[in-house]
Amino acid sequence: MERLKRTDYCGLLRPDHVGHSVVLMGWVHRRRDHGGLIFIDLRDREGIAQTVFNPEFHPEAHKIAGHMRAEFVVAIRGRVQPRPQGTENARLPTGMIEVAVEEALILNEAKPPIFAIEEQTDVAEEIRLTYRYLDLRRPSMARNLRLRHRAAQAVHGYLDRHGFVEVETPMLTRSTPEGARDYLVPSRLNPGEFYALPQSPQLFKQLLMVAGMDRYYQIVRCFRDEDQRADRQAEFTQIDLEMSFVDRDDVLDVTEGLVAALFEAAGRPAPPRPFSRLTYAEAIDRFGLDAPDTRFGMELADLTDIVRGTEAKAFAEPIAQGGVVKGMNAKGCGAFSRAQIDGLVDYAKGFKAKGLAWFKVTADGIQSPLAKFLGPIVLERLSERLKGEEGDLLLLVADQAKTASESLGRLRVKLGRELKLIDENALAMTWVIDFPLLDYDPEQGRWQAMHHPFTAPLDEDLPFLDTDPGRVRAKAYDLVVNGQELGGGSIRIHRRDVQSQMFAALGIDADEAKAKFGFLLEALEYGAPPHGGLAFGFDRVIALLVGAGSIRDVIAFPKTQKAQDLMTQAPSPVDPRQLKELRIKLDLD
Ligand code: ASP
Repeated sequence: MERLKRTDYCGLLRPDHVGHSVVLMGWVHRRRDHGGLIFIDLRDREGIAQTVFNPEFHPEAHKIAGHMRAEFVVAIRGRVQPRPQGTENARLPTGMIEVAVEEALILNEAKPPIFAIEEQTDVAEEIRLTYRYLDLRRPSMARNLRLRHRAAQAVHGYLDRHGFVEVETPMLTRSTPEGARDYLVPSRLNPGEFYALPQSPQLFKQLLMVAGMDRYYQIVRCFRDEDQRADRQAEFTQIDLEMSFVDRDDVLDVTEGLVAALFEAAGRPAPPRPFSRLTYAEAIDRFGLDAPDTRFGMELADLTDIVRGTEAKAFAEPIAQGGVVKGMNAKGCGAFSRAQIDGLVDYAKGFKAKGLAWFKVTADGIQSPLAKFLGPIVLERLSERLKGEEGDLLLLVADQAKTASESLGRLRVKLGRELKLIDENALAMTWVIDFPLLDYDPEQGRWQAMHHPFTAPLDEDLPFLDTDPGRVRAKAYDLVVNGQELGGGSIRIHRRDVQSQMFAALGIDADEAKAKFGFLLEALEYGAPPHGGLAFGFDRVIALLVGAGSIRDVIAFPKTQKAQDLMTQAPSPVDPRQLKELRIKLDLD
């Protein structure tokens, strides 16, 4: 090692290097003994180079090669030569050349790896996460991390060019208002008191606007102690930004440019701009969900007017209770068996629908258990509105608007996937705008902020904040990609009086508001500029760019669904002395 100094990366050797004397260092990817000759495929982060050891010319090196095993760390010195005719491998960038080794050194031995270091693997994810350093040697994973780095550079470059200033905000802070559960950190110096890890830098970025920073950004880690759904991480990374003296379209415009810069960094064509826009109301009407997958049709329709007044109880009762009847056409599914239909019914019930009515459009008319209660005219009108044709299956849910839309919306996505209606190569970027400001929580019997309590209402809706909170729309927006929320934000409330009105609507009294967000409320009284911003998931965008199935594949050291790090075994019990210092007693029963 002392004598050998690396000259090149294995994976970057090309026919141009023929004749060069090179020193390579890396891992033994594969060893093949061909009678006398030994071939070692040597791997580093850039790729693989074939090296060949000839016992006739360099017996010493050949002997060392005989001791090399998979994943040994080795150094070689040799000369680059063309591969003998007929042995070239055009699929490998280094496939036209090889290195004839003159000198070799084993820098470190290795146990046989737990799994083979290959581009693709079917090794269980728990094993990959436990031995993450081996998993990250796999070229596909290494590529993901390097693209992530490129993308981060593109974000820094783009936002810097647009006048944004990167400012770090505290990790040890107090509860932030994103509505999830906090991760808490006990304070030794202040016994009995806790920091919260930030769910987002929301309050700090607003304070930076009050401070006159004008444009802030950060690629920042956020922490939310949620029950882990499939593609969530306890700690995740957001691109977070905030701007002063702007309106909604300024924020959307900057963000679209940023998304384009990210796509360019990944060598992919940027999505066409401006991105399409849907109001929240339209998204719910047509797709049933506020993060609609617009890559395929099968849109929902409101059928309440058609079935009103019929004898079908399944429709009459929900309508009488202020509900709606919505439906969609599962094209070509008319031949579904009873068991398949029951599966759809159960799926809809999983999203709180009380039932799912179905109608088969056949050559002999429309068949359904409800047919006799509706009569031929209503059936015909239903089918007409849903553009029913022979062989179709019409699916209807009668319920409160939210449940009817959501259950059908979910069913639409499930069927869209199963029926392969979704073009997996398509990219549908949509802004969903004009969200409701508030959402009624029947369990708690009160209104909650749909986004967070600093989101500004639309000016024209402000008068209803006290009288009819449910109809107030917000200056909030989400960026939705292929049916997934990528991020969102809002124009903020910058006036103290509006903020007080908002807290009143949320049932937060002055004392509670002061206790939770007093510093922000006070800041609003010291000259807060109009401002707004947004945050979007960096892990998610990278997963989208590399086509990863899970965000775990673009995070170096992710956690499991149970928020555990299988490699470091965090979380873990701690020394009782540490607990004592923190004045913490455990009560695990
Ligand atoms: N703080 C919000 C979030 O993390 C984003 C924003 O409103 O800017 O979702």
